[in-house]
Amino acid sequence: MTAVTNIRTDEVALRKAPMLIGGNWVDSASGEVLEVENPAHRRPIAEVPRGGAEDVARAVQAAADAFPLWSRTIPRERGRLLARIADALEARVEELARTIALETGNALRTQARPEAKTTVDIIRYFGGLGSELKGETIPFGEHILSYTRREPLGVVGAIIPWNAPVLLAALKIGPALCAGNTLVLKAAEDAPLGVLMLAEVCQEFLPAGVLNVLTGLGEECGAALANHPMVSKLSFTGSTEVGKLIMRAASDRIVPVSLELGGKSPSIVFPDANEDWVIDGIIAAMRFTRQSQSCTAGSRLFLHRDIFDSFLNVLGQKVKALKLGDPLDETSDIGTIINEKQFRKVCGYVEEGLKRREARLVIGGLPPKEGPLSEGYYAIPTVFANVANDWRLAREEIFGPVLVAIAWTDEADAIRMANDSHYGLAAYVWSHDIGRALRAAHAIEAGWVQVNQGLGQSPGHSYGGYKESGIGREFSLEGMLESYTQRKNVTINLTH
Ligand code: ADP
Repeated sequence: MTAVTNIRTDEVALRKAPMLIGGNWVDSASGEVLEVENPAHRRPIAEVPRGGAEDVARAVQAAADAFPLWSRTIPRERGRLLARIADALEARVEELARTIALETGNALRTQARPEAKTTVDIIRYFGGLGSELKGETIPFGEHILSYTRREPLGVVGAIIPWNAPVLLAALKIGPALCAGNTLVLKAAEDAPLGVLMLAEVCQEFLPAGVLNVLTGLGEECGAALANHPMVSKLSFTGSTEVGKLIMRAASDRIVPVSLELGGKSPSIVFPDANEDWVIDGIIAAMRFTRQSQSCTAGSRLFLHRDIFDSFLNVLGQKVKALKLGDPLDETSDIGTIINEKQFRKVCGYVEEGLKRREARLVIGGLPPKEGPLSEGYYAIPTVFANVANDWRLAREEIFGPVLVAIAWTDEADAIRMANDSHYGLAAYVWSHDIGRALRAAHAIEAGWVQVNQGLGQSPGHSYGGYKESGIGREFSLEGMLESYTQRKNVTINLTH
């Protein structure tokens, strides 16, 4: 069998996309399949294998078999292969972008294409880090040589979600492989096609078994991978709920675990920042153009009371100007929610906000029941004002375009409310007064605080969460060293 090629992105055509085990493109051992749906039209576009425990066992064995040779390959040579993968992927970036848009519902222009390009950057970045797997020498005296080595861990089991599927796959593949590990990666059931395309490009360059990519359900394929005794490291991106299960599986075998989990990130706007560029920044931070299906979405907006109404007025107008539409249409700013379950969940939160008498609907509401947008899972960007920080709307990660605005007058109170969350992933502070902004940035309990911008991550950035938002850091050299290597100390007595 060959890898999936030519997924038709211009029209709906059902394709079979096999998974990658030990350098071969295979069906599941059971022969069962899962359908992949295009959320913009609610139509199936592909079938992927429904991988289970037997497939996991084969993939882990293949990765274990490939480990001795790969781990002893000179790091710069491993990096060189990653660099070649990045070049080959770059040539297919448009095809990759269209596949991402088709299966995730993320708009091509605003999301899917930038994701495909960043994926190339990420692989290229890690390709350059081979020589950075340095150890250190320890000064115990002239007669002792003591040094550390950074050694790979072995077979890494990685599980990723659907919201930025290809980028997140690259974030596991790049550092795990550069550091000399071999990998079994489980794609999300809703968005496996772009990941399989990335795997196809990787497989042109990598020895068999170094990278294995499985498709399947979380509780079958994902759980089997998390619990497999030969997996020496677990790296998970997804919900906090499943993250806890992964950590439990890791604790049974004492294997290291990296978790990138949910968020309910605050944006604090000071009264001097009632300006257009801040409003644009809040819209970007909220990831409205990704339907806010992002763990770093700045979904709690803490606005100073003096600017509360005027700021929200302009915010409402700007959000209204964003165009919802077919993800493959270049003019669409916003695409669709990933699937029916998430769509219903998001609508449930909107209904709850509409029922709250104290809350004011600034913009948005429930999706239309008829017309072209009713064909897909299009959620309308929605902003509620006068929300209290202890409501479900302000505490739970909605993973959809529902922004809640909360007024504040006292700075300490704003910070207290921002920190009153079991999450701590990202945060945004907006003010011209840099001293004040930085004091707030330092007081906020989050792994990543941006001042006066609401951008996404880039390679080189140390990214990860405080509190229940996760453990470990990704995107960077130190993330690779901490998450994908173990240190060995060697001490030699030089007097004998
Ligand atoms: P989301 O809500 O973003 O879908 P999940 O945490 O449910 O996030 O899913 C993220 C990834 O975790 C997916 O690949 C999914 O298949 C997998 N997953 C879900 N449940 C489990 C589980 N019990 N064990 C292992 N992986 C799981």
